[in-house]
This record gives sequence, structure tokens and C-alpha cells, in this order.
Amino acid sequence: MSGLIIDRARCVGCGRCISACPAGALVLEEGTALVDRGLCTLCARCVDSCPVGAIAVERGSAGAADGWRGVWVFAQQEGGRPLPVALELLSRGRQLADALGEPLCAVAAGGGEGLTRPLLEQGADLVYLCPALSGDHRAEPAWPELLARLTAEHRPAVLLFGATPFGRSLAPRLAARLGTGLTADCTELDIDPDSRCLLQTRPAFGGNLMATIVCPDHRPQMATVRPGVLPVSPPCPRPGARVVRVEPPALPAPLTRVLGEWTADPSAAGLAGAEVIVTVGRGIGVRKNLALARRLAGLLGARLGCSRPLVEAGWLPYDHQVGQTGVSVAPKLLLAFGVSGAVQHLAGIAGAEHIIAVNTDPEAPIFSVAHEAVVGDCVEILREMIGILEEKTK
Ligand SMILES: Cc1cc2nc3c(=O)[nH]c(=O)nc-3n(C[C@H](O)[C@H](O)[C@H](O)COP(=O)(O)OP(=O)(O)OC[C@H]3O[C@@H](n4cnc5c(N)ncnc54)[C@H](O)[C@@H]3O)c2cc1C
Repeated sequence: MSGLIIDRARCVGCGRCISACPAGALVLEEGTALVDRGLCTLCARCVDSCPVGAIAVERGSAGAADGWRGVWVFAQQEGGRPLPVALELLSRGRQLADALGEPLCAVAAGGGEGLTRPLLEQGADLVYLCPALSGDHRAEPAWPELLARLTAEHRPAVLLFGATPFGRSLAPRLAARLGTGLTADCTELDIDPDSRCLLQTRPAFGGNLMATIVCPDHRPQMATVRPGVLPVSPPCPRPGARVVRVEPPALPAPLTRVLGEWTADPSAAGLAGAEVIVTVGRGIGVRKNLALARRLAGLLGARLGCSRPLVEAGWLPYDHQVGQTGVSVAPKLLLAFGVSGAVQHLAGIAGAEHIIAVNTDPEAPIFSVAHEAVVGDCVEILREMIGILEEKTK
């Protein structure tokens, strides 16, 4: 396990580390610095500030793989229900755990049966539930504490997070704390049958190739996976599965202050889990044509997504962006209007079951993944589809 090491014989008690520490984790006692490990985030600012080199961060290896067992999933919740990505991770986690012959566990907080039942149904052998914590960003400072403590006690081999804003913030802090690696934004996870290592596959070099990353020397092996990338398996409750209640950690002083809550644009809400999606690209020409795409989405009961240039132009907020650096989607039906199908965009629609693409260019790369290709002006086709659907709903 990692930690901050203070050489008390060297420390001259100048107090510079105390001013440098953003977490308030250091105090002076009897003329030498002392660290509160519960507050320390291992940011190492104190190391740089010390004029006599008395402080070091020990990036301790969690050790060899021996004795580390099981696949764990951080089950983020909202409103007392697991987020879809938690169920996606458990579905793949079950396969990984079976390949290893080891248990699958979920770690959750703040909910009751509405939270634990779906996790158990999705194949968890064990759910560690911390009822006194909230399972979302409000409990952010407490989560690394809780997970570090549970990891030290139970030594899981694999620890998976959804690449939600919360998961993306939590996972690296925990990885730094545990002195292990983290592969972000994986699109595929598997087990190497020879080494029993987690194979963590993710796009690299701007999405132009897929890299498979292993973490052979450190445990746990940590990865984040974007929502909507992995399929949810049919329920597979395990005999003897149970919930273990755990105590919350002492809350460290918060490093952030919530100034307000941002509400997502409702036409993009649930984009990752939507069954029908209308996406628009630069081919729609001018901003006012967005109204046509919104209208069509409304008539179809669909969510509205877009390519990155539309976000960059300020036409739509970021939560509409589909692709490698936006949302990954897996709808039953995707209608793409004026989207070229750049590799970074395609990375986000790989899970779509049926794609209908409209583009004036018969060579557009989107057609290589589309099930139906319509060569034509997307604005005209949008208008026509709206006309037909409005007529039908009269
Ligand atoms: C690191 C990195 C990450 C990125 N991440 C993302 C990402 O997450 N999501 C994303 O989308 N992009 C991403 N991009 C950008 C990506 O490379 C493309 O630039 C972008 O997807 C192109 O968007 P587009 O298809 O709307 O525009 P264009 O490539 O300009 O394509 C417009 C298309 O519209 C067609 N067209 C023009 N007029 C009409 C018409 N009247 N009717 C029908 N079709 C018409 C054209 O033939 C063309 O195919 C990323 C790039 C990088 C380098």
C-alpha cells in the first residue's frame, strides 16, 4: 500500500509542507511534521515543498498477484437504483469472475433493496453495502477512504468503475492511493488464461488502433468502462448471494464545495441508454436545421445526439456528443443525418443494433457501418420524414 513517509530525523519543522498541503493532512507536532493518512491524497506537493528532502511518497506495490482474489464492481447509484453502467460492469464482471473461478462483488452505498436486488440479480456473489453513505458525488471524499479500506481488507484482484464523471474522478484517486495502475475508458475486458491477468482494451492514438493493456505486477487491476459499451446479460442470481453491511469511513475535510447542481439538457438525458437515437453532423448545414432533428426525435420518442463539430460550434451542449470523447451509445435504432462517420465518432456507435445513415456522399465512411444507406440531402429527408410522421399522428 502507498503512503507518505516523513523522515522525522531530517525534518527541521519549517512548516512549508503544512502550507503546501491542499488536504490539510499535515500538522506540526513537537517541531516535526506528522501526516494524517486518512486525509493525505498523495498529491506530493509537500514533497516538492520540503527544503531538506525529509518527505517522500512511497508508491508501494500492492505486491504480487498471490492472495488477490475476486472481481469487484463499484456500483454507482442514482435515486436508490443502480446506474445502467453498474449492471453492464456486473454482466462482464460475472464472465471475468467465472474465467478466474473467483467471486464477483459489488460495492454500493446509500440504498436499500431497490439498489441491492438488481445487483444480486445481475450475478454478484456479494454486495458490500454502506447504507450511511450516499452513492453519488455528495459522498465523493469518503469513497476513496471506503474503497481503500475494503481493498486492504479483502484484496480483490480486479476493481471496475463506470467511466461516469464520478467514476472518472474516484478511480484515479484510488489507484494513486493503492499504488496500482488504472486503464481508463476500456471498451473490452477479458482474462488471459495463462497469466490470469485482466486484458484491458481501449482505443489509442486518437482511436486509430486498439491497445490491450495488462497490469502484471500490481494489484488490484483497475479499469473504467464507459456507459453503454458492454451489454447487460440476462439476470443470473447466484445461490447463497448475500449483502454485507459496512461502516462508513470518517469523513475527511472536503476539498471541493458544491456551488450548484447542473441539470442536463432533457433531450440528451439518457442518451447512453436510449433505444432510439437521432444524430446530426455538420451535413445539416445551419444551426436552425437542428429544430428539424429535434422535431423528428420528438416524433420518434428518440434522444438527440450529434458529432463533435456541432458541440465545438456551440450548437449543442457536450452531453449530446456521441463518440470516443463523448457518449457511447447502444440503441436499437440509430438515424444519422449528415454525419461523415469519422473513426472517433464510430467508436461511440459500435453498440448500435441498426443504423440508418443519410449522407450526400456515397463514399462517406458512415455507410461502412450503416445497415441502410440513404444517399441524399439530409435536410430534405428530415423534412419528408417529419411530414409523414405528422400526417400519421394526426
Ligand atoms: C482525439 C479526437 C477525438 C474526437 N472525438 C470525437 C467524438 O467523440 N465524436 C465525434 O463526432 N467526433 C470526434 N472527433 C472529431 C472527428 O474526427 C470528426 O471530425 C467529426 O466526427 C466529424 O463530424 P461530422 O461528421 O459532423 O463532420 P464532417 O466530417 O465535416 O462530415 C459532414 C458530412 O456531412 C455530409 N453532408 C454534407 N452536406 C450534406 C447534406 N446536405 N445532407 C447529407 N449529408 C451531407 C458530408 O458528405 C460529410 O460526410 C474527434 C477527433 C479527435 C482528433
